[in-house]
This record gives sequence, structure tokens and C-alpha cells, in this order.
Amino acid sequence: MTTPGNDRHFLAIDLGATNTKYGVVRRDGVLVSQSVAPTPAAAGREALLSHLKQVARAAIEQARQAEVAPVALGIATAGWVNPHTGAVAYATENLPGWTGAPVADELRPIAGVPVAVENDANALAVAEKYFGAARDAEDFVCVTLGTGVGGGCYIGGRLHRGPHFFANAIGHVTLVADGLPCTCGRKGCLEVYANAAALARYDGGGRGAEDVIRAANEGDATAREAIRMYAHYLGAGLAGIVHLLDSPLIILAGGLTQDNLLLLDELRAELSREVTAWPQRRIELRYSDLGYFAGVLGAAAVAIETIER
Ligand SMILES: [Zn+2]
Repeated sequence: MTTPGNDRHFLAIDLGATNTKYGVVRRDGVLVSQSVAPTPAAAGREALLSHLKQVARAAIEQARQAEVAPVALGIATAGWVNPHTGAVAYATENLPGWTGAPVADELRPIAGVPVAVENDANALAVAEKYFGAARDAEDFVCVTLGTGVGGGCYIGGRLHRGPHFFANAIGHVTLVADGLPCTCGRKGCLEVYANAAALARYDGGGRGAEDVIRAANEGDATAREAIRMYAHYLGAGLAGIVHLLDSPLIILAGGLTQDNLLLLDELRAELSREVTAWPQRRIELRYSDLGYFAGVLGAAAVAIETIER
């Protein structure tokens, strides 16, 4: 293992279905530079790969202007990733053609440094381990709540990926047998009951999740009840994960946690009822404080892990 030094810098790209965030990150998690570009998500594999290359060149230029020499490139992407080959093992139709994309092989010649690729939700968990709330934790679960529901689990100090790299599909754990249809083609997945659309639905469907949260903060009774209902379903799902893994720390991230402290309170109350031996477990439940560029920090953390392990 190499000694970590804060003079080390990393290129980092977070490829999301809507936006690509990227920048240069110092070893201690300081963002030296950061930018956002729209992702051509529907344009297919070749277009996505050339988009990534363009973004990588822009990040390299940022590093040049900051007068630092990056030692690795990290990429966080939607879809499941084989971290050994840096190729996408499986992606849904949110990114058509992305399954099988050899991301690391394509980007390495441009980066000129080692390239690490990881699933975006897994990368967020790695960011929490390196820079966030999980720095001192060996076991924790990081759950992202937004358009979708994703997550990453650390077990015994390591990110659990599974033999096919498909682990941590927290959003697609069945919550309701024969329940509402999910984007994955199945029914009753946690995601359908705990994503942004679900919160809007519990509120009656007339306004978006962001507006529901704002209204709840202003004391709107319907909105507050919607958040309670949301916490009820999410709590049931998280209780299942706690029962499986005995995680002592749950970190929640994503758009639905923004300015939404009511959810944290409701969720804690829900878990205290749903989780057996709650007083003995002393589970810590908290929001991520990594902010808007958490995914970029995650990509950097994955790159750090790759060259320092
Ligand atoms: Zn599903």
C-alpha cells in the first residue's frame, strides 16, 4: 500500500442519466475543480463513450490549469460494473447499449493514468468511507433516494459487490408481493414505494416531491402525512436490510434528503418499531453531507482505492 498524500490528485467523472459531473479531487476529498455537462443518455454506446472522452479531456485541462498531475481517473456510472475489467456488466434501457461497454479500456489511452470504474451507488458508499460519515465505520449501508433508489453496503470494511457485481440492488428488494409495477419489469420493488414519484403519489399526485418537502417544512398537513407514509415504506425496506446485515450505520443521500429533516425523524421512529432489538443495536441514521458533487467524490474515492490497495 502506498502512503496516501494530499499532494495527490485524481480525475473524477460521475456519469448520471441526466448530467455528467466531473472534476479534479485532492486525496483528502477537496474538490479542486468541478463542472457539469448534460449526458447524451439515449444516444447509444459510441456517443456515450465519446462524451466520456470529451469530459475526461476537460478534466485533464482543469488539472493542467490547477498545475497538478493526476495519478488516476475514477468513473462512476449507472449500471453494474465489473471493477476488475472496468466494463459495464449490465445496464438498463436508461442507457441504451451501455451493457458491455469497455469503459476503462476506452478511457485509458486518453487519461494516461490507471482508470477505475464503479457503479454509481457503490461509488457513493466508497465516498462516504473515504470522505464522509463512514470514515470510521467497517459496516454500513449507504442508500440514495431520488428518481430511483440505490445503495451500497460495506461488510467488514469492504464494499460488498457479489460474484456477478450485481449486489446492493436495494431498490429492487421486494417490499410488496404482487405490488406496483417497477421499471425493472418486476412488481412491488422498494424503489416503487420509496422514490420521488412515490412521495408525490402519497401526497395525492398534484405536485412533485420537491414541492411536497417544501410544503411539509411549512407545516402543510397533507405533505407531512405523505412524508410519514413514505417513511413507513422506506422504513420497512431498511428494516429488512438491517435484519440481514446488522449494519450499525445507515447513511441516506440523494434529492429526497435535501431540506427534509422531517423524513429523518419519521424514519428513525419507523425503524425503532420495525427493527427487532432496536435498543441493543444503537443504529446511527444520518444524512450524507457530501453535497451536490458526492458522485464525483465517489469516482475519486474508487480511483484512490484502486491505486492504493
Ligand atoms: Zn424493481
